[in-house]
Amino acid sequence: MAEVLVLVEGNPAGGGVRKITLEALTAARALGEPSAVVAGAPGSAAEAREQLAEYGAAKVYVAESDDIENFLVAPKAEVLAQLVADRSPAAVVIPSSPEGKEVAARLAVKTGSGFLTDVTEIAPDGTATQTAFAGATIVHSRVTAGTPIYTVRGNSVTPTPAPAAAAEETVTVQLSDAAKAARVVDRVVEQKSSRPELTEAAIVVSGGRGVASAENFSVIEGLADSLGAAVGASRAAVDSGFYPHTFQVGQTGKTVSPQLYIAVGISGAIQHRAGMQTSKTIVAVNKDPEAPIFELADFGIVGDLNTVVPAATELITAR
Ligand code: FAD
Repeated sequence: MAEVLVLVEGNPAGGGVRKITLEALTAARALGEPSAVVAGAPGSAAEAREQLAEYGAAKVYVAESDDIENFLVAPKAEVLAQLVADRSPAAVVIPSSPEGKEVAARLAVKTGSGFLTDVTEIAPDGTATQTAFAGATIVHSRVTAGTPIYTVRGNSVTPTPAPAAAAEETVTVQLSDAAKAARVVDRVVEQKSSRPELTEAAIVVSGGRGVASAENFSVIEGLADSLGAAVGASRAAVDSGFYPHTFQVGQTGKTVSPQLYIAVGISGAIQHRAGMQTSKTIVAVNKDPEAPIFELADFGIVGDLNTVVPAATELITAR
């Protein structure tokens, strides 16, 4: 069976791998037998191995060194480029995170390959599905040059176990000077939250300008916590200082595709839709019955969010 390399993205909170890695492994199985590639600090592979075995990695290539960890993404692209040269895999599949997309682009240049970014599905013949024009168009594409490289959008593939051997093989890479051009000098540990990560959450509750203040975002957080959901925000809410920028959903923010997306006090501008319209079920709460978000929503509630959302939170919490 053809070998497919899958770049592993570790869990920044420590322990195991991110869910998007398991999704990438699952998507890669359509093309052949996945070999996971762990490129990171010493000890990364040991933390990841159990999950990689559970989700179908027949092999785990281990490239561990402080240099790989400390020189941003360039070393990871070099590790993959060396494996592509040595192993001639059928494809390379990478989680579609900001880091993953940069690694994919660098790898494509190094190997003279085509790459498809933010794919939502990969067919056994290599055809990938993408959305374009803020989700208005579905595109099917295939790479025609080099080793096909894909980045898989979070939450578009359901990770399914397929136990495999995960046999480890050490990879030694002599990093080029170019890979050492930018060094990490400090890492700011993200504040730990009990809520799920926005791009990986099964449920997202987002607030917009209609929430009206930073203090009133507690209404959004209350509903999110009653559902075990992540909190998102529109750009208008973020620009108004109601919620931190890192939670922005949309064209210039994060792309989410949860099972359930609840848009509260959000009008539904095309740039916001671009980041959430592939959500499986969309619920909108807006006091304006003409708000464009209702064209997209599966369920809509016309009403004041300050009445509707606390009432919903109370009902859900009481269950
Ligand atoms: P508004 O459009 O002002 O809508 C607020 C809504 O709240 C209204 O529909 C109103 O009826 C409702 N409302 C008010 N009070 C209440 C109440 N008490 N109860 C219930 N409903 C209420 N936007 C993004 O979100 N993400 C992006 O990534 C993004 N990228 C952009 C990139 C570019 C290049 C540009 C030009 C714009 C971008 N935007 C983005 C901005 C986008 O065009 C909209 O301006 C923005 O999405 C509007 O946010 P909003 O829906 O919260 O605010």
